[in-house]
Amino acid sequence: MVQARIAAACQRAGRDVGSVRLLPVSKTIDEARIRLAYAAGCRFLGENKVQEAHHKWEAMQDLADLRWSVIGHLQTNKAKLVARFAHEFQALDSLRLAETLDRRLQHEGRSLDVFVQVNTSAEDSKYGLPPEQVADFMHALPQFGALRVRGLMTLAMFSAEADQVRACFVRLRELRDRLRQTVPDGIGLEELSMGMSGDFEIAIEEGATVVRVGQAIFGARAVPDSHYWPVATTSP
Ligand SMILES: *Cc1c(COP(=O)(O)O)cnc(C)c1O
Repeated sequence: MVQARIAAACQRAGRDVGSVRLLPVSKTIDEARIRLAYAAGCRFLGENKVQEAHHKWEAMQDLADLRWSVIGHLQTNKAKLVARFAHEFQALDSLRLAETLDRRLQHEGRSLDVFVQVNTSAEDSKYGLPPEQVADFMHALPQFGALRVRGLMTLAMFSAEADQVRACFVRLRELRDRLRQTVPDGIGLEELSMGMSGDFEIAIEEGATVVRVGQAIFGARAVPDSHYWPVATTSP
């Protein structure tokens, strides 16, 4: 069903359906249901909290080709866990974290695909770098040899107004297009991870290459979003 909606959005936007990766987000979903998703063909899952992801990875070692993407804000002291098992990390937003992740990855003899998270809504409540800081940040990343930079990630403003949501996605795409002129060799900018259950079709129309979808696949979550990111108390 989500696949069909992705295909329809691609068609509206004149895009190839193969240019958009659906990343199912399995936070709060238990092992039994994840095993069903695996049986149905799912090989890559997104999790917001690293401990939950690590726990599931450990419990499902028998599913050797099931890979994990950590998509939520990460404290530096938990970089060690990500370095141990994750295949992708989508919320890189500080040099201290990049440095720690790189050191732990070198130690593990691993490398990691990373996305730089950008705050495109200018809300204090959102994680991510302000857009104007991303160019300098990118210039500092080549020194971290275990990090393979793939592109940018954002959460749009949570708004019922589609225009405001769309503006966040446009901002990320335009930032990526500007960065293309300046980023050092080896820094990838092909990927734009944007769009969730409520807004992935708009994100695809604006160029998303990865959509992170939980509730539209697995059903509504009981855990409120404020558990995963600070929620704005005043409207901007
Ligand atoms: C949970 C989560 C999603 C998916 O949200 P849904 O509303 O379940 O689609 C996307 N991105 C991040 C960072 C998340 O934590």
